[in-house]
This record gives sequence, structure tokens and C-alpha cells, in this order.
Amino acid sequence: MWKWAVGGVAAGTLLFLLAQGIDLLPVILLVALFAVVANMPALRGMTRRFAQPVKAGAGSGISFQDIGGQASAKKELVEALDFIQDPEAVQSLGIRPLKGILLTGPPGTGKTLLARAAAQYTGSAFIAAAGSEFIEMYAGVGAQRVRDLFSRARDAARDQGRNAAIIFIDEIEVLGGKRGQNHGHLEYDQTINQLLVEMDGLKPVRDDIQILVMAATNRADLLDEALTRPGRFDRIVRVDLPDREARREILNLHTRNKPLADDVDLDRIARETFGFSGAHLESLANEAAIGALRSGTRMIGHANFVEAVDKVIMGEKLDRRPTPEEMRRVALHEAGHALLAEVLRPGSVASITITSRGGALGYVRQAPDDDRYLHTTQELETDIAVALAGMVSEELTLGGRSTGAAQDFEQAFQRGRLLIFSGMSPLGVVSEQTLPEADLHRALTEIVHSVEERVRGVLSAHVDGLHRVADRLAESERMTGQDLRTLCGLSVVDAHEAEATTA
Ligand code: ATP
Repeated sequence: MWKWAVGGVAAGTLLFLLAQGIDLLPVILLVALFAVVANMPALRGMTRRFAQPVKAGAGSGISFQDIGGQASAKKELVEALDFIQDPEAVQSLGIRPLKGILLTGPPGTGKTLLARAAAQYTGSAFIAAAGSEFIEMYAGVGAQRVRDLFSRARDAARDQGRNAAIIFIDEIEVLGGKRGQNHGHLEYDQTINQLLVEMDGLKPVRDDIQILVMAATNRADLLDEALTRPGRFDRIVRVDLPDREARREILNLHTRNKPLADDVDLDRIARETFGFSGAHLESLANEAAIGALRSGTRMIGHANFVEAVDKVIMGEKLDRRPTPEEMRRVALHEAGHALLAEVLRPGSVASITITSRGGALGYVRQAPDDDRYLHTTQELETDIAVALAGMVSEELTLGGRSTGAAQDFEQAFQRGRLLIFSGMSPLGVVSEQTLPEADLHRALTEIVHSVEERVRGVLSAHVDGLHRVADRLAESERMTGQDLRTLCGLSVVDAHEAEATTA
């Protein structure tokens, strides 16, 4: 509204001056130049972000109870926070006050949640920014934003009547990468220097507002050492992927507002989701609820969770329909993976599907007995065997290979490399840095070829079974591990299912 009023007054003034016979050309040119400069996209972005570089919020609304698992990260954090909550005791013992905590770990494991919970726990104002917000092509802009961030944190705490603020910087590696590595201009270096200056300037005992800087990264190895030296981010808290127990807790948290049917067994889902982060599990619970909504049921059932696991791992179902010949090949390929996995690791197959999702035409999901953090030679060779079994099955049943196995080879070679660089191959202990490429290639090929021969031996005895599984998949596109075991006479009692039926 006010824009119209100003416009009206300006137009009126111009008309009046024209009527007085005054030459307005210089004024008009000046105004036009100003309008062009003010609308240049880069500058506009610069001024806007300058004015609002961070998100600020009163408290954070998240407590440590809202975070599943992460027991040791929480414990370490709480210890550090108790420390800053009692500055007098810290001072009387002559302890150097804590200024920064670095949270490191894979994406989606709850680093931001932990920082929010830390703010809640200490009754601090919470200010969050991402490393990328400080990166700009104009020299000095990033440094100015860092200054701005610290002063906004103090203002937010004063406005909210708190005496402490937590500044959280996500993706700190973007702003705090090793100095001197960004050629061309020194903008990055200036920004990180400014962060160091601000942190050095914090006087946690004497300042009226105490500031604690928390930062998160997935790549701690990229950080400038000046950031992690004592006196700056000197507490490093690891935030790892959740183990089985923790996955169960996270599932509990994310299903507490959802109606679950009686057949839902969260323990079992937790066991079958090895490698899922907290963010994956949140998405899993959400997708299961969406599945229930789509199928018009009022409760979320086990089948919704099974479908959601596939969706979270593989992506949305695709409309693309392979030809009937391709479908047959995909079914025989997946049957190969599944049958071999079941023979070498009885009871390990959770489901097989030939529905196209994301980048895959089919998929076998294996559910490990337990979370594994160490692997023996035999386990790695079994992984390679399962990866190669799709291709071998195609060969045995259709007489030739297809491009569908390319991704499997990647997996096989990745496991092979792990085997070699863990000193478990005939090469003995070797260094990744000094092992010649040709030797690595030879060792990898030997491992893969010998495993391939074993796979051929095992699957040759199950050609009928492969066809039977493929027939069943052609009918229903998906089958459970138990269906597979029954169909192929592999009557291993699945420990998981036995547990579920006795429960
Ligand atoms: P990134 O490194 O990608 O920034 P992050 O580690 O900071 O990820 P968060 O942003 O804290 O991860 O988590 C993303 C979402 O995942 C959360 O909003 C929450 O829904 C869920 N989540 C992650 N970890 C947990 C957990 N431990 N307990 C409960 N929910 C979790």
C-alpha cells in the first residue's frame, strides 16, 4: 500500500517540476541506474541474506527424550553442557571453558536434533545456520555474515531473556575446510579466520551472554586443523548410525502418534533395517502411514511397513513395465540372488520383488541376524557370491548374460577390495596407497572368478528351483523369504519368523 502512496507522491512531484520547466533527464537517469543496481540478482541475494542470515527460535522445542538411541552422544553432550552450566565451578577449578562442540557422523543421524536438544537442556536461545550460507563470491561477505551470526545470537538471547545462546552451524566443512586450498580468491580463508576470531573472543565466564558454538559435519577429515585444536571445537562427539536397539527406539518415537495394527512388530522391523539412519526410519514410518491411507485402512499394518522399507531403500515404484521376456529374465536373476543367499546363509532372505523401483528392476532384501560391524573372509566371499548369483542364474537358465548385472559387479568388487585391503587375500597385508593397479586388478579378478565358479556349482543343483521361484514372481511380483524356503524345500526355520510366531 505504502508503495502506491510513495509512487503517487513521486509522480506528482515530477509533473510539478516539469510544469515549472525544469530539465528532469539527469534525475530520471539516476533513478533508473539505482533501480537496475538494486535489482541485480547477486546483490539482491547479498543484501537479503545479509539481513537474515540465520533462523532463530525461542528455545528449540526438542528434548533429549525426543531423540532415539545415540546414548553415548547424549551422555557426552550432557557432560559437556553441565560443564558450561556451572561457570563458577569451572572457573574455581581453573578449567578452560568450553567454546565449541563438533558433532560428526553420517547424514540423518540426528546431529541437528542433538544441537536443538542441547539448547533446550541449557535453556539457551538457538540459532542455526548452514556452512553454505557463508559462501559468497564477494570478498568479505562471509566474514561479515559470521560477525552477524554471533551478534544475532546475543540479540536473540537478550530478546528471549536468556543468558546463553547456542549457535549451530550445519555442514561446517563448507565454511571450515582446510585453508589455502581454495585457489582464486581468499574469501573462504577470510570467513574461517573470522569464525576463529569470534570463537577466540568468547569469554564464557565474563560475557553477559554465554555462547556455545555447535557444528555438524559428515566429513571431519576436510576441516581445517585450526578449528579442531584445543580451545575451539575441542569436544568431538560421534553421532553414528543407530544399532538395532536404537532403531527400535527411533521407530517407537516416530510411530507414537500413529495407529498400528496388531500384526506390526517393531522389533522385527528394527532388525530388518540395518544401515538405516534416523531420517530413514522417520521416512519409513511416514511412508507406511501413507500406504495405509492409500489402501483405505484405518490402521497401519505390517504389509504397509514391508512396502515402505522397499520404497525407502529403492525409491517410488515406476510406471515403466519391462517386456514379458525382460520380466522373466529379471525374475530368474533375482531368484539366483535369493536362492544362493538362502543356501549360504539359511534364513537370511526377507523378501524378493521384481517391481521396478528407482534405478532397479528387481530386488532381494536380506535381513541379517544381527548388526555386523566386522566381517570375516567367509562373510565377504558370501557377499560376493550373492552379488554374482543373479548373473550366473541368467546364464544357467537362459544361456547368456545381460546388462542387468553391472551394479552387482560393483558390489562384488567393492567387497573384494575390502577383503584385499583388510589383509585377507593371498597378497597378505598391503597398502592401498602403494599397491600397483595391475596387482590389485589381478587379485580382484582371481577372487571374483573363484567365487563365481563356486556359485555356478551351487546353482547348477537348483535350476528347477530357480524356475519355480521365477514362476511365482511372475504371478505376484513379490514373495517373502518364507515363501521361497517352502517353495524350494529349504525348510530352515527362520529364526525371525519362529520368534514372531511364538511372541
Ligand atoms: P544432516 O547431516 O543431513 O544434516 P542430521 O544428522 O543433522 O542430518 P537431523 O536433521 O537431526 O539429522 O535428522 C533428520 C530427521 O531424521 C529428524 O528430523 C528426525 O525426524 C529423524 N531422526 C534422525 N535421527 C533421529 C533420532 N536419533 N531419533 C529420532 N529421530 C531421528
